[in-house]
Amino acid sequence: SAQDPTSVDGVPAEAREHHARLSQDLDDHSYRYYLGAPVIADAEYDRLMLELRALEAGYPSLATPDSPTQKVGAPISNEFAEVVHLERMQSLDNAFDDEQLAAWGQRVTAEVPVDAFLCELKIDGLAVDLVYEEGRLVRAATRGDGRVGEDITLNIRTIGAIPLRLDESAHPAPELLEVRGEVFLPGKAFEELNSRLADEGKPPFANPRNAAAGSLRQKDPRVTATRPLSMLVHGVGAHSGVAVTRQSQSYDLLAAWGLPVSDRTRVVATLDEVRDYIAYYAEHRHDPEYEIDGVVVKVDDVSVQRRLGSTSRAPRWAIAYKYPPEEVTTTLLDVKVSV
Ligand code: NAD
Repeated sequence: SAQDPTSVDGVPAEAREHHARLSQDLDDHSYRYYLGAPVIADAEYDRLMLELRALEAGYPSLATPDSPTQKVGAPISNEFAEVVHLERMQSLDNAFDDEQLAAWGQRVTAEVPVDAFLCELKIDGLAVDLVYEEGRLVRAATRGDGRVGEDITLNIRTIGAIPLRLDESAHPAPELLEVRGEVFLPGKAFEELNSRLADEGKPPFANPRNAAAGSLRQKDPRVTATRPLSMLVHGVGAHSGVAVTRQSQSYDLLAAWGLPVSDRTRVVATLDEVRDYIAYYAEHRHDPEYEIDGVVVKVDDVSVQRRLGSTSRAPRWAIAYKYPPEEVTTTLLDVKVSV
């Protein structure tokens, strides 16, 4: 309160300290997570983040640009060369229930009419940025803090699903194409990798996401080459020599160029149909060969996306609907781990 002698800008010392502690913890957890070695479950991380948001809602001056609520990812390690992304890579805002999804839908449609939503699975992998110049893959990088990522070009080149050269049989390659997607390790490959590691007396990975992160961030690309990683592309960054009007249309083009695009993506007209898609995959969560932690809903029309714009960390034209966490038993380890 104003009378509190320890308060600065109306923020009591206790709240400031609580904020500093939570922020430091979240930063530490992010750093470990992006290396592929988290020490807490994602749901616990999300809970700490909600606690920080609630604190900042009470004391908005605490929401400075370096707060974990305002940032993307984590600073990069010094193991790889730095890459400045041509266009910023962002995160996604979350909805944890139908009410929060409806609130997002209202915010969006109150500002601008939306004729189509794109529904996609939220792949629990690693965000990667690929740059093609005149159809050739010239650079690949991790998301990092969204502005600067790590150069993992040599490792990415070992992934069979990623074309080194775009297929120009249907459409000529554009001058410049930056694509974003998710690298993952298919479930079966994950099981095989863990049993191989166990045979070699090495520690297994807790889940496919950590295995994918660990495999991609190898110093020696020959090790990455032994891990059957795959990828699905879910966005376009900087581009020239190609027009993008609908995100769904851009996926058709990316597929024609030989880039891996999901066949589970759906374009729908209403939020009720979005709900059907969410309900379907809540029931069929394990159908895909990769792990999913939710559904990503996007406004399909790119001119509407531009009008809606972004915050410092996430686009306003998309939302990640998160499924509740699952408890799984890994038969390999015979222990329960949360994923
Ligand atoms: P996020 O994973 O919640 O969402 C953003 C990312 O989703 C994008 O960058 C993109 O790479 C990915 N994505 C997957 N499928 C997509 C699709 N179809 N379309 C668009 N994007 C798609 O956000 P984040 O900032 O990467 O990470 C935050 C989350 O990571 C937390 O909510 C938490 O679950 C987890 N996390 C856990 C720990 C931990 O210690 N356990 C630490 C940090 C973060």
